[in-house]
Amino acid sequence: MPECVFCQLAREPSRVGHRIADSEHALALLDLRPLRRGHSLVLPKRHVTDLSEISPEAFGALMSLVREVSGLLRRRLGTTGENLFVASGPGSEQSVFHLHVHVIPRLPDDDLRWNDWWESKATPADPAELELLARSLRG
Ligand SMILES: [Zn+2]
Repeated sequence: MPECVFCQLAREPSRVGHRIADSEHALALLDLRPLRRGHSLVLPKRHVTDLSEISPEAFGALMSLVREVSGLLRRRLGTTGENLFVASGPGSEQSVFHLHVHVIPRLPDDDLRWNDWWESKATPADPAELELLARSLRG
């Protein structure tokens, strides 16, 4: 079975031309098919498939680099915000099975229109149903 592509990149980060930052436990690189200029991926250097496998410590290190990359994008590209996106697990349309966080830099007038998509999918919840669901999730 061929080695995971993100594990290959994480093994020698200094050789990755589209690397933008890395830390002891995580690597950040530019997405090869960006939604916007500067769209980045941040991944743990140690292979984990999805959120169900990552330790709290490794997740903390991952998100710490996400935060650093967000600042880098704002300072260097002049963006004023970012969206984070994670597909985790078979039901999520995850396509590369090495956990990664998309950092999508945003400007107020860009054309991603995330809220339009969100509004087209979201429906108002019944408060009684929400309370029952919350109770069952709390256990
Ligand atoms: Zn991997």
